[in-house]
Amino acid sequence: MSSRATAAQEAVHSDSYFCEAPADPCAIVMFGASGDLAKRKLLPALYDLAVHSCLAPRFRLLGFARTEMSDDEFGRQAAEFLPGKTPSGGADSAHRDFLQQLHYFHGEYNDPGTYQRLAKRLDELDREAELGGNRLFYLATPPSVYPRIVEQLGRAGLAKPKNERSWVRIVVEKPFGHDRASAQALNEQLLSVFDESQIFRIDHYLGKETVQNLLVFRFGNGIFEPLWSRNYVDSVQITAAESLGVERRAAFYESAGALRDMVQSHVLQLTALIAMESPANFDATAVRNEKIKVLQSIRPLDGDSVRRDVVRGQYGPGCVNDEPVPGYRQEPGVNPNSATETFAALKLFIDNWRWSGVPFYLRTGKRLARPSAEIAVMFKRAPHLVFRGEAVEPNSLVLNIQPQEGISLSFGAKAPGSKLHIAPVTMDFRYRRAFGAGSREAYATLINDCIRGDATLFDRADSVEAAWALVDPIIDAWKNGPAPAFPNYPAGSEGPEAAFDLAESDGRQWRPLP
Ligand code: NDP
Repeated sequence: MSSRATAAQEAVHSDSYFCEAPADPCAIVMFGASGDLAKRKLLPALYDLAVHSCLAPRFRLLGFARTEMSDDEFGRQAAEFLPGKTPSGGADSAHRDFLQQLHYFHGEYNDPGTYQRLAKRLDELDREAELGGNRLFYLATPPSVYPRIVEQLGRAGLAKPKNERSWVRIVVEKPFGHDRASAQALNEQLLSVFDESQIFRIDHYLGKETVQNLLVFRFGNGIFEPLWSRNYVDSVQITAAESLGVERRAAFYESAGALRDMVQSHVLQLTALIAMESPANFDATAVRNEKIKVLQSIRPLDGDSVRRDVVRGQYGPGCVNDEPVPGYRQEPGVNPNSATETFAALKLFIDNWRWSGVPFYLRTGKRLARPSAEIAVMFKRAPHLVFRGEAVEPNSLVLNIQPQEGISLSFGAKAPGSKLHIAPVTMDFRYRRAFGAGSREAYATLINDCIRGDATLFDRADSVEAAWALVDPIIDAWKNGPAPAFPNYPAGSEGPEAAFDLAESDGRQWRPLP
């Protein structure tokens, strides 16, 4: 590797590259601060941003929940989840600095008096830390609570910036609604209190380095784009496989299922990114304008096509990583007769000039053999094979999102020896190998973007509703059809047989989980 390449790679991984300047000082109000997401993901992400000098030294975090707690207690709870403890288990100076900026506020989500007190507390923090009136409200409660919080923020006058130099933003966690109507209602309510430019609908998948690299790969390199269409692409496969079960989220998952939890959000967003046209520039409006066109071009499903092109599954008992695991219906908190799907696979078509006739196979599931998230672009076979008797696998380009972040291109190569034998080989790019470090947690990337006002990686009202419009007919068809014969795949397998048939009936095959 040349010394210039090494310097460039070092620059990519230096902290100064990640945050050229700290963001504006601000108060972050985290609703649901006593919860799982806040502790496991949001507080560690904020800590990561603080130690990388991405947050202003004067930022303040105000945890909000109903549980009574002092600032110190909240800090102690947060400390348990921060990375990089000292060998004695105590907090080092970075921990101490961070914890000093944490405060806690308890109250009822629908009590107007609570929000009057909150406004006063925010004014105090503003004065103490000279935050310039900048405020970020983060909704990390169960979604049923969002409307109450939004309404009360509006009533208390907390949605409006204090002056023309300050900003107020709101982050809304997924799931954004449970169908199109509820997503529309939530959008309407948010938009009656906040402006669209203040609303950041988060999908943490989009904060992953490899997902962002997808745009760089497609639109920063000249050689792939000419191949990126029905002329050369045979099909596209998008996989988001988990080996985990429902963990602590059975109550949520029972009412959601794989289609709502994964397909409506992450998987359709990946579809939009892989299929979109080049944006006019890399700003939030231009990128999101292109993504919505893809979602609007996906051929809608109806009762017949749902029966033909959509497969659902639920795992039974099995073995994952050589350990026996219970079936979904035996998980704590799950109805023993549950009809919730833990797996979904579907075939979609994007009816536009670029993708006409190219099937997009999407699949996601829990308790599959191995965790893997990838997009595989499968190219057409060479038009004429001159190597008699030798089959040559078609080329594929795989963008690996998890667990090994990178990109590989497969092609046929002559295997050594006197006989002409063609073997499939790959050219691999691995993030860790190339840049010497793993990528940053998605939540850190997204919170950083939000504090800086960059909405490129966040969902817009129209794209959330368009994604629900695609998923709703599937939910309806399942609701109105016969009860599913669950469980239909053992934990630790690659999913139900019917999912394999979906691709095989077209003469294609899913890539094995890596
Ligand atoms: P929790 O169930 O842990 O709830 C967060 C907090 O909200 C609780 O600590 C509780 O605080 C409060 N709360 C819980 N139930 C109610 C209720 N019925 N009414 C009012 N307040 C309530 O949720 P998570 O932290 O797991 O998730 C928060 C949000 O983030 C959800 O929308 C979830 O879908 C989303 N999300 C979560 C992920 C995760 O990994 N956990 C991943 C992706 C998204 P208190 O009782 O103190 O008020």
